[in-house]
Amino acid sequence: MKALQVVIPGELQLVEREMPVIENSNEVLIKVKAAGICGSDIHIYHGTSPVATYPRVIGHEFVGEVVEAGTAVDRVKVGDHVVVEPIVYCGHCYACRNGRPNVCENLEVIGVHRDGGFQEYFKITQDRVHLLSPSLDWKEAVLIEPFTIAAQVTWRGDVRPGDVVWIIGAGPAGLSILQYAKLKGAVCIVADVEQDKLDTAKGLGADHVILSSEVDPVEKVYEITEGMGANVVIDAACLPKTFEQAIQAASAAGRVVVMGFDSRPSAIAQFLITRRELTVVGSRLQTYKFPEVIEHFQEGRLKPVEMISHTFAFDKFKEAFDLIESKAEKTSKVLLIFED
Ligand SMILES: [Zn+2]
Ligand SMILES: [Zn+2]
Repeated sequence: MKALQVVIPGELQLVEREMPVIENSNEVLIKVKAAGICGSDIHIYHGTSPVATYPRVIGHEFVGEVVEAGTAVDRVKVGDHVVVEPIVYCGHCYACRNGRPNVCENLEVIGVHRDGGFQEYFKITQDRVHLLSPSLDWKEAVLIEPFTIAAQVTWRGDVRPGDVVWIIGAGPAGLSILQYAKLKGAVCIVADVEQDKLDTAKGLGADHVILSSEVDPVEKVYEITEGMGANVVIDAACLPKTFEQAIQAASAAGRVVVMGFDSRPSAIAQFLITRRELTVVGSRLQTYKFPEVIEHFQEGRLKPVEMISHTFAFDKFKEAFDLIESKAEKTSKVLLIFED
């Protein structure tokens, strides 16, 4: 079978691999049907991921059909459609014991620390798969994992009905967070430097948009909220500057959520946090969010299709990656589709 491997940073290759074989009774073998390319895949490819190891078969957003199941498998059966939850944790460290296995001390992310889903067949223990309705389109289902990130972010930011939420960045992350915050009843402001992306955000329910390349976004947030500031600010642009803006624009008793991997410092005066008693939190991956997101998908409450900008056959991966690199601002979610 074929697998897409980052051999060393900068070198992406389709390699021939042995078919995975079920060795333990609780494992399932999945024929991968569709996968999404994420910003973190690009980071691993470029050698800028602070966590990845090489060589690595990348891919953590993927769905497929169960083609074989071990004798003890009872969550799914052959023929079932599934999405893979791409985190593996120890279950006994401090984070795991406190319901936060996504930041387990011994965390392994599929496609980052161990081989991922950009391969024709994938083997995993049954506890890492979630059953999907066969009526859900494969392409749409790929977006379940990215939306679990949005579910996590809005949970970490404690988004409540009526809250004014400012989302910085209208890429795939920002747009899925926007949809999730709307689902939770928030009033959403979205900022980006690309008008196209703001138009998409409007179509997905943004109440206000800010073109940050033209106006000071912090001033604009105060103007829209009549001096209050945003109750929740979610920095999905993940730059040192946007973290500073997020703190500046938060209202009294507001929450600021960061999700970036940038190691450069931001300049933030502690008084900005103290005077309004802000809660500043990180959000990474997700914890126990798959069931609720799958339900939203199956009930049609989210619009995953509108996030997909391009699809390529798996063996045309080079074109997909070239497109993302050369026209990042024109792409949203780019998918790889596997042969039947
Ligand atoms: Zn991702
Ligand atoms: Zn743990």
